[in-house]
Amino acid sequence: MRYISTRGEMPPKTFSEILLMGLAPDGGLVMPESYPQIDRSQLDAWRSLSYADLAFEILRLFADDIPEQDLKPLVDMTYRAEVFGSEAITPLSRLQDGTAILALSNGPTLAFKDMAMQLLGNLFEYVLAQRGETLNILGATSGDTGSAAEYAMRGKQGISVFMLSPDGRMSAFQRAQMYSLPDANIHNIAIRGMFDDCQDIVKAVSADADFKARHRIGTVNSINWARVVAQVVYYFKGYFNATAGNDDTVSFAVPSGNFGNVCAGYIAKRMGLPVERLIVATNENDVLCEFFATGRYRPRGSTETHVTSSPSMDISKASNFERFVFDLVGRDSLRIKTLWQAVESGQGFDLSSDPAFVRVAGEFGFVAGRSHHGDRLTTIRSVWASDKVMLDPHTADGVKVARELRRPGETVVCLETALPVKFAETMEEALGCTPPQPAALAGLEALPQRVVVLPAETTQVQAYIEKSLA
Ligand SMILES: *Cc1c(COP(=O)(O)O)cnc(C)c1O
Repeated sequence: MRYISTRGEMPPKTFSEILLMGLAPDGGLVMPESYPQIDRSQLDAWRSLSYADLAFEILRLFADDIPEQDLKPLVDMTYRAEVFGSEAITPLSRLQDGTAILALSNGPTLAFKDMAMQLLGNLFEYVLAQRGETLNILGATSGDTGSAAEYAMRGKQGISVFMLSPDGRMSAFQRAQMYSLPDANIHNIAIRGMFDDCQDIVKAVSADADFKARHRIGTVNSINWARVVAQVVYYFKGYFNATAGNDDTVSFAVPSGNFGNVCAGYIAKRMGLPVERLIVATNENDVLCEFFATGRYRPRGSTETHVTSSPSMDISKASNFERFVFDLVGRDSLRIKTLWQAVESGQGFDLSSDPAFVRVAGEFGFVAGRSHHGDRLTTIRSVWASDKVMLDPHTADGVKVARELRRPGETVVCLETALPVKFAETMEEALGCTPPQPAALAGLEALPQRVVVLPAETTQVQAYIEKSLA
């Protein structure tokens, strides 16, 4: 399998070569040259596999330059009950109304990002050791991504993490989760400013080519290809769990922000998984919903981005969306360059009159809906009343849209993206009580915390990194 860039200017590369990459050197996103095709007999053979065995079968198709005897133990070490809470890894349950919930949030940070990030930690460590290299991961977080990255990279040989977060702006639980890690290779930096300041510093440091090369700075953001491909696995697993046989089809409802999660579902469908529809759920930040309804993609600035009670979806420029549009326009890189110039200039683009747009809903099965604060609370209350199940606010957005769009006889699997304990305030508002804490996290907030506070200045952050690595 070779990988190319959506902007067309990267010579084809192997999986190991693109593993540590963020954006491709030409500013595009990495894509496989083609999608492996899974036929019916393959599906039949995969139906009874454990999560780890299924993950291995799928990953070996994409990471075919990693010897199988090396890849297998990395996958087995990642997807085990001690890390994800049960042998099933992603257990499926059904609500009274027939909607299925695929549990993806039983990893160490209680959000679905662990599903991919835990594998990434093991793959990074392996590839760096092979090459005799080290990597210093610099990131900015307002919550979920930073903690998932830290829990994936903690204690890994050859890797350090420098994670910037806005000082005093995360929940007590989120702070405790990140700042209580005792591992020497994890560095928490609280910035006196907002999340945008943190992100600007990461961009500035990454743009300092000399500093970046000298200190081997890398990232683990949501456009990393290995994260997307690791997420493909649970669409297959969810399909097998929700169906009696491989003649059945299912639809997936996916709470979406950066389009990483549902992009993996799209790839699973393109590989031949019998997926009927991909139901994209957004919150008040509905840039994706607007595209699927109208063909217009109109990313918004940070001033137009609403702060909501499903904060991990407060995104107005979906970083993985370029992957799908690349396929939609027939992998025409020149066209992608033009479209994304318009995105970067703040204009966006309109594909409503493009003949390809009918394929979005038709061939690719995309539909979308939105959910707002009131919908979220109503859905949390209604599922609690009918099923005694507590949905987190993001999963509730997915269930709300799924219920609205579900057709008679359609099997809809809603992807759970976080556990309610991470969003106690909204749960309290919805149900008048706070969600239970998993036993493993009891006392987390009382643990000693490790964090340095710095002003929002790139040079200060660079000096801190330099000092830490000396
Ligand atoms: C990251 C995240 C999302 C959005 O996922 P994308 O891949 O960015 O679309 C939704 N819910 C939760 C809880 C998340 O952490």
